[in-house]
Amino acid sequence: MKILDGKQIAGEIRAELRARAEAFESKYGKKAGLAVLLIGDDPASAIYVRNKTRDCEEAGIRSFSYTLPADATQEEAEALIDELAADENVHGILVQLPLPAHLREDRLLAHIPYEKDVDGFSAYNIGSLALGSPAAVACTPKGVMRLLARYGISVSGKRAVVIGRSKIVGRPMAMLLLNADATVTVCHSKTKGLAEICREADILVAAVGKANFVTAEMVKEGAVVIDVGINRVDGKLCGDVDLASVKEKASFLTPVPGGIGPMTVAMLLENTLEAAERQMS
Ligand code: NDP
Repeated sequence: MKILDGKQIAGEIRAELRARAEAFESKYGKKAGLAVLLIGDDPASAIYVRNKTRDCEEAGIRSFSYTLPADATQEEAEALIDELAADENVHGILVQLPLPAHLREDRLLAHIPYEKDVDGFSAYNIGSLALGSPAAVACTPKGVMRLLARYGISVSGKRAVVIGRSKIVGRPMAMLLLNADATVTVCHSKTKGLAEICREADILVAAVGKANFVTAEMVKEGAVVIDVGINRVDGKLCGDVDLASVKEKASFLTPVPGGIGPMTVAMLLENTLEAAERQMS
């Protein structure tokens, strides 16, 4: 079994992006800019936002951090996004999810112009992905595809199974695999015969959010297993895959931490630079 080292590949990509960000700055006389909006006081979200800000700075991307209180109104949040949408120094806008329960996520995200939607969550970008045309693609599934590509793992003609159908991981993941000519099955909490379906997979992607969910009985000998999950058990980070048993069967496996997490960050930086380049050209 070989480890797919997302941390190392993400480091290489980030070095390439730094050079690209410098080239952008010398060509246009300003940095590519990403605005990150945090609403409320969820401590995990606050850490993610801080990390994103730091990662941008390291990559030579200007970051703009905005925080609204947990009781901010829909109108206040939308007005701020409209302001950022009109700001020529802001090329990407990211709203940290989840939002406080009283806010309408779909309406809020609809205020991000699709050109600045670096998370790829807008209806336009998801639609473009479904049609198979290039668009800003959600960072986590994009990171999965890039990791496979960097390791020379071909997708075309393979049987792929994605466990999870969320808007941010499962669905775009399935569409990317389909666009890359895999034969794709999407599983979810109502799926019957999950283990049997998973055993057909040449490429198995777990995006469930449950520790040790994928066990050896669900994995075909020689399968590529991508663990997107991030769970905390007894204070330790782990994925959705039961590493101890699955490593005996998989040909390739992503670790948690150090697998898809760092790739997701690298793809956010890439999406921001790509958005900036498109807007300036
Ligand atoms: P969601 O909770 O939105 O989605 C989980 C999916 O798993 C749902 O589609 C759900 O089905 C499905 N599911 C739940 N239980 C079962 C079951 N028993 N059998 C089959 N399917 C099941 O999570 P996300 O997609 O947002 O995230 C998934 C995981 O990935 C989480 O651990 C999250 O922390 C992690 N993550 C990691 C990222 C990274 O950078 N590495 C980025 C984003 C997320 P149903 O739709 O029927 O409810």
